[in-house]
Amino acid sequence: MMRFDILTLFPAMVESVLSESIIGRAQKNGILEVHAHNIRDYSENKHRRVDDTPYGGGRGMLMAAPPVWNCWQAVQASATAGEQVRTIYLSPRGKTFSQKDAQRLAEYDRLILLCGHYEGIDQRAVDAVADEEISIGDYVLTGGELPACILADSIGRLIDGVLPEAECHEKESFEKELLEYPQYTRPEVFRGERVPEVLLSGHHENIDKWRLEQAEEITRQRRPDLYEKYLKDYK
Ligand code: SAM
Repeated sequence: MMRFDILTLFPAMVESVLSESIIGRAQKNGILEVHAHNIRDYSENKHRRVDDTPYGGGRGMLMAAPPVWNCWQAVQASATAGEQVRTIYLSPRGKTFSQKDAQRLAEYDRLILLCGHYEGIDQRAVDAVADEEISIGDYVLTGGELPACILADSIGRLIDGVLPEAECHEKESFEKELLEYPQYTRPEVFRGERVPEVLLSGHHENIDKWRLEQAEEITRQRRPDLYEKYLKDYK
């Protein structure tokens, strides 16, 4: 069982994405829990304001520290003794997310994902609550909600029982620094193209060998950086 607590100004965004498909089913089956918390509910302002202009001037609005801090404290207080909890601030300034991070974070009992909006969050709130900052790539989005969904999806699917056994994640892209080999299903001939003969042979050793060769070649061509690591770590 793993629990995600998502702190956001737009809870409906994450709820709608994560209630569908495999992650939605895992919640129904009690393997994952996703709780979206509206930071606005923790505003101390009578108009429920959560943002303000930045000190020192500059464009846009910043999320103020008190509602973020209050929301985080309430969520943190609901953790039970002994639970392994980690708080992540989704931010373009964070470390770029990778499959290795997904595997590392899947070891926790509970992840608190803090989503910024507007120009981001008062630094004092980030410093007070975040154990780490993660970026999903070198581009800027309007908010941390989509990045939080990406983390919840990629980490959630690694939890035992979330994927049907047939969809095992152990032979996928990025396992062992390799991209995945090409895959085929029926029909055997599509627009004149036949499925590679070896896959019809039933000879498992040859199939595994062919798949490894394909994965190596695709990785060498498309991601020479990964291929270098693979040669170093596994050859
Ligand atoms: N002013 C900030 C900057 O230049 O770094 C960008 C703020 S962005 C418009 C608003 C929020 O979206 C951020 O606080 C963060 O939570 C989220 N966000 C935007 N791009 C992201 C990315 N690549 N990875 C993770 N979170 C991102």
